[in-house]
Amino acid sequence: MNYQTITAFALLFVIIAIYIIYRYVFKSNEVDKELLEKPFPEEWRKILNERVIYYRNLEPEKKKEFEERVKRFIAEKKIYGVGVKVTDTDKLLVASAAVIPLFAFPYYTYPNVREVALYPGSFDEKFNTDDKAGQRNILGMIGDGFLNGVVVLSKPDLHAAFDGKRHRRNVGIHEFVHLIDKMDGAVDGVPEILFTHSYSLPWISQIKKEMEKIKKGRSDIDPYALTNNAEFLAVVSEYFFDNPEKMKSRHPKLYKLLTEIYKQQPDKYV
Ligand SMILES: [Zn+2]
Repeated sequence: MNYQTITAFALLFVIIAIYIIYRYVFKSNEVDKELLEKPFPEEWRKILNERVIYYRNLEPEKKKEFEERVKRFIAEKKIYGVGVKVTDTDKLLVASAAVIPLFAFPYYTYPNVREVALYPGSFDEKFNTDDKAGQRNILGMIGDGFLNGVVVLSKPDLHAAFDGKRHRRNVGIHEFVHLIDKMDGAVDGVPEILFTHSYSLPWISQIKKEMEKIKKGRSDIDPYALTNNAEFLAVVSEYFFDNPEKMKSRHPKLYKLLTEIYKQQPDKYV
């Protein structure tokens, strides 16, 4: 071997070593290219039609777009179970919860999400699923610190959220709205990627008004929204996407602001 060949081999070795370290440190996911190239499976379409009202009510062209975005999410993110089996239905429901709030923003694909972990039920702050202390009341959570990039969801609660019926709760949408909120660095109920400056003031003042009504018992919004502005956004977004007609009739101003924030009118698909 001459000097140039040895240098080339050494260089190649260094590049491979850097790549392995990079993969190890950043734990970036392998993209499932095979899935990306395949047409959307017919049985997946059936599952979406049965379970996801939002999808069911889209125009045919929009349905196609929704399918592509769901497929991309499943191909790019790692969705796995902790003590629970993960099926195609689980993956489709997780991806739907991610795609729905960002459907008008095709360029955002959750760079801050690497993995979604499904749990066999609700859990406590230490991710225990046994109910010894009676603290097992968390249905979903977005990771911080060393769990940054990880979303944890209770599988049965995700299934209850997408059971083909309308309600006002959806743990999947709730957590993904927190992640959208978090993209600007602060989980504060004002997701800057969705807001132009003109929205933030009317939005903050609307939050105050609605919170007053909830406090006085004059609202059907879950009182958990009173926790802080971030929880308010997540809770009313669940309602907005899960039961738009009801929200429009009961909270017209809030509904209108949310249509401006999300650039969608989900009641129009109904
Ligand atoms: Zn929350």
